[in-house]
Amino acid sequence: MADQSFDLIIVGSGPGGYVAAIRAAQLKMSVAIIERESLGGICLNWGCIPTKALLRSAEINHLLHTLDAYGFAADNVRFDFAKVVKRSRGVAAQLSGGVKHLLKKNKVTVIEGEGKLAGTGKVAVTKDGKTTTYGAKNIILATGARARVIPGIEPDGKLIWSYREALVAPAMPKSLIVIGSGAIGSEFASFFLNMGAKVTLIEAMDRILPVEDKDISAFVHKSFEKQGMTVLADAKVQGVRKNGDSVTAVVEVKGKVSEITADRLISAVGIVGNVEGIGLEGTKIKVERTHVVTDAMGFTGEPGVYAIGDLTAPPWLAHKASHEGIMVVEHIAGLHPHEMDVGNIPGCTYCRPQVASVGLTEAKAKEKGHEIKVGKFSFIGNGKAIAMGEPEGFIKTVFDAKTGELLGAHMVGPEVTEMIQGYTIARTLETTEAELINTVFPHPTVSESMHEAVLDAYGRMIHL
Ligand SMILES: Cc1cc2nc3c(=O)[nH]c(=O)nc-3n(C[C@H](O)[C@H](O)[C@H](O)COP(=O)(O)OP(=O)(O)OC[C@H]3O[C@@H](n4cnc5c(N)ncnc54)[C@H](O)[C@@H]3O)c2cc1C
Repeated sequence: MADQSFDLIIVGSGPGGYVAAIRAAQLKMSVAIIERESLGGICLNWGCIPTKALLRSAEINHLLHTLDAYGFAADNVRFDFAKVVKRSRGVAAQLSGGVKHLLKKNKVTVIEGEGKLAGTGKVAVTKDGKTTTYGAKNIILATGARARVIPGIEPDGKLIWSYREALVAPAMPKSLIVIGSGAIGSEFASFFLNMGAKVTLIEAMDRILPVEDKDISAFVHKSFEKQGMTVLADAKVQGVRKNGDSVTAVVEVKGKVSEITADRLISAVGIVGNVEGIGLEGTKIKVERTHVVTDAMGFTGEPGVYAIGDLTAPPWLAHKASHEGIMVVEHIAGLHPHEMDVGNIPGCTYCRPQVASVGLTEAKAKEKGHEIKVGKFSFIGNGKAIAMGEPEGFIKTVFDAKTGELLGAHMVGPEVTEMIQGYTIARTLETTEAELINTVFPHPTVSESMHEAVLDAYGRMIHL
């Protein structure tokens, strides 16, 4: 028999789980959330937030080394790496505390421990060897994911790091190898480079940031190299050798094998879903490539059991997890929410230069059979970007030539992660070029470039 029953039990308190819990409480459900580690999940404790805190320090370090351009001079600029890491951990702790407060305010019951399905409508929670069973009309699995480990490149906490070890690095490495140039790998490579490390970024695909538009990948590649990073695309790591206090990667690039040695190595080769130990055995729940399969409303096929966030299909992003959490809860409450349109989920990478995109790349749009119009505007034609001293980068828009639908937008440069939402709203509203052209953008802002990139697709660009 269950010790206590709820309308909804959520296993995992990341941005998927805790947001779902708050929405359910708003809809007057009795809700319990089970967490085995820290409230806020990977995002707040080991992902989105602490990395952005580190990247802010790297941005300041970069600015401090380019002061002359702004009319300043400073001697003996230095940093205390332990303080940089401590600040990042403090920011993570503050936000995790914030989630605790929000859950309390919404009267969500927080249960500490390891949760697993324990038969229809039941969740067993184990803590310190003691198991308690709770009843629930509905259950949402939101157990997230962890770093993918390649055999032979297992994180050891000393020489080889996953994102977890990298976030609490005990000292600044003088040199670093980063394997994998997705958002996580590129952000760490950029952080350590801007803090002064010699960085080699290795990517197995033919270009870095491989999910982005080709032009964006090429621009970031060049920019990283200009900043002093060694970037190897189309590069296969054949093996990794640990030395006393360094690590050597054996890398094959276009048939040529070479060795790269650095103080430390970060493996950032993707994630695997946390599907183990959550009671999936004997249920109707299907797992494909370590992620739980659901229908459009997050239903797993097992009566009363839903799944959201990184545990399920990509994109593996915090805002996707939160949006799904709300959608599933509203579906459970019978509110008929809209299905999530994966094509309208923006993706951001906070390296220097920043990258942001939504919708189809030029290549994907063509592949899908669209006749397209493409616009491009470089920040060198934007007054605010020049005034800020950050005129590198561009915006690219992709339109359907027949209907004028904005199919995709791709940005690289200053504060683009803050601006992509403009195009995301446009896509959600199914805007065409006509409304975008007719929109007035404030001057002087970097966002004016968003207008110009639309104008260019229709041969009407003004400032270049
Ligand atoms: C270094 C890094 C940087 C990132 N940066 C960004 C970014 O800038 N923007 C972005 O959108 N995304 C980013 N992400 C991805 C983002 O963190 C994830 O998409 C997001 O956290 C997924 O949320 P979730 O709720 O599905 O799962 P998670 O955040 O992974 O939360 C799952 C929670 O479930 C708990 N749990 C697991 N199993 C159990 C169990 N059996 N019982 C109880 N609790 C359990 C875990 O302890 C965890 O707290 C980043 C990820 C990393 C690693």
